[in-house]
Amino acid sequence: MASKDDSIPIEKLGVVNLPQWEQGWQKAKDAGKDPQFHVKNVHPIFSKHLEQLTGGRSRLKFLFPLCGKAMDMKWLADQGHTIVGVDGVEDAARQFFQENAIQPTVTDVPALNGKLYQGMEGRVSIYVCDYFNFSSEVKGQFDAIWDRGAFVAINEVDREKYVRLMKTLLKPNGRCLMEVYQYEPRLFPGPPHNVPEDELKQLLGDYDMALLDTGDHTERLGKLWNLPWIKTAYFLIKASN
Ligand code: SAH
Repeated sequence: MASKDDSIPIEKLGVVNLPQWEQGWQKAKDAGKDPQFHVKNVHPIFSKHLEQLTGGRSRLKFLFPLCGKAMDMKWLADQGHTIVGVDGVEDAARQFFQENAIQPTVTDVPALNGKLYQGMEGRVSIYVCDYFNFSSEVKGQFDAIWDRGAFVAINEVDREKYVRLMKTLLKPNGRCLMEVYQYEPRLFPGPPHNVPEDELKQLLGDYDMALLDTGDHTERLGKLWNLPWIKTAYFLIKASN
């Protein structure tokens, strides 16, 4: 497939839509592997900064946008929190429940043109649908969001829409921990996409944003994607009351 001017292939622009994500999941499965972005254990940055995200509060309602089969969901549910994940690829939900040996109940959700996988007495729900169909009408608002591989995964043209949706999904005192990648964007199309700090700040408007942590991935991902440097930055985002 080619882009509008027929000179730059779409994949070079880093535009990836749900059917391509689905293919990616299938390709990994056929190779007997996990998708490349999957972290096999609890994400170390998440466990390290969980306290900042919860503010020490228990039994919170967490949202995992574009959740994949993140182990963090089970880990949090075991601590008594309630988790809602959203992913457009059904195999993500299937694999999550299977690998964690949880028997899910599966129901159709016509309003979302999707399905709901639920387990652990309702403490873990994964909606299988396009995230942009999701809204606070489905499950209300959330105390906390772990945005890992989510904002960086959506297409760049959808960034404003994504942040608008995020703001409607967070409670007035809600918090979000967001991971973004940083590298020289002309050298690699993503995803994960490069997110300049200034752009994120501008998109968030009156929401507070503080850098909590950083990571250097030059060794592994730099080699893989032929980049001289590649980093992650982790921001704690707070809703403006
Ligand atoms: N947060 C997960 C997965 C990150 S990869 C983790 O940390 O492992 C991005 C995920 O988003 C993929 O599982 C992909 O299937 C899903 N995805 C991409 N676009 C989507 C969309 N528009 N709606 C819902 N899910 C989407």
